[in-house]
Amino acid sequence: MANQVRELIEKLRVKPGDKVKLKASDADGDGLFKDEADTKAETLKIAAQVNELQDRLYAERQRSLLVVLQGMDTSGKDGTIRSVFNTTGPIGIAVTAFGRPSERELAHDYLWRVHAACPRRGTIGIFNRSHYEDVLVPRAHKLLPKSTIDERYGQINAFEKMLTENGTVVLKFMLHISADKQAERLQERLDEREKNWKFNPADLEDRALWEDFEEAYETLLEKCSTEEAPWYVIPADHKWVRNAAVGHIVKATLEDMDPKYPKPDWKPSDFKVV
Ligand code: AMP
Ligand code: MG
Repeated sequence: MANQVRELIEKLRVKPGDKVKLKASDADGDGLFKDEADTKAETLKIAAQVNELQDRLYAERQRSLLVVLQGMDTSGKDGTIRSVFNTTGPIGIAVTAFGRPSERELAHDYLWRVHAACPRRGTIGIFNRSHYEDVLVPRAHKLLPKSTIDERYGQINAFEKMLTENGTVVLKFMLHISADKQAERLQERLDEREKNWKFNPADLEDRALWEDFEEAYETLLEKCSTEEAPWYVIPADHKWVRNAAVGHIVKATLEDMDPKYPKPDWKPSDFKVV
């Protein structure tokens, strides 16, 4: 892997126990990539390479990749999926969007629905929101005792460790936007007819709790970025920077996994198609 990509990955990765200050952390991503047009062209190439790697992963059918996307409303979780996985064949991909838990889901522990959605061997699973909502929403909205939420960080780490020990590589991306950028994007959802459907008045309630969500994110980044399942904080004020950064990390991770087409235990030359 090119040194530049290694550097990018190291720069964006949250080291275990690191205290992240999101306000001080750059949502702009200035200097990460040089030219916008070149970077966009590179991202298209990366998407094609992700597709090839995914084909090998599917053929190998031994391991899987889980990509967790988190971020405040309008941070671009859907857009990132569209950009990075736009050429990946649908057979080996499963996207799950987690909304407010249903009554049935609430009758179980909070990881129940998450575990059920984890990728099968050979596939890439993408989570648009995830089990991290279960330490974000109750913390920011003060819905559960702090001790209950505190216990969950350890439970989540144990859960993800179990996944990695069983062949799932876990990547977690926090799409980091500034409050100003969110205001701009929410306003577009009100102003543009084709974007009206994306607007949800509840988003304004979460926006009013910006600092509480920020604190909840900082805590989960500190407590749940592990060697085996790292968090990356992705500058997301510019879509092209966000897409390029996530694309590079996904591609590099798949390259490191280096899935192999299986060797048949029979000789092709023993067969004749008539
Ligand atoms: P969206 O992703 O914009 O469609 O919105 C989904 C909504 O569901 C967001 O407001 C999330 O915070 C909320 N949500 C997702 N998972 C949970 C959860 N486990 N507990 C509470 N709210 C959740
Ligand atoms: Mg929303």
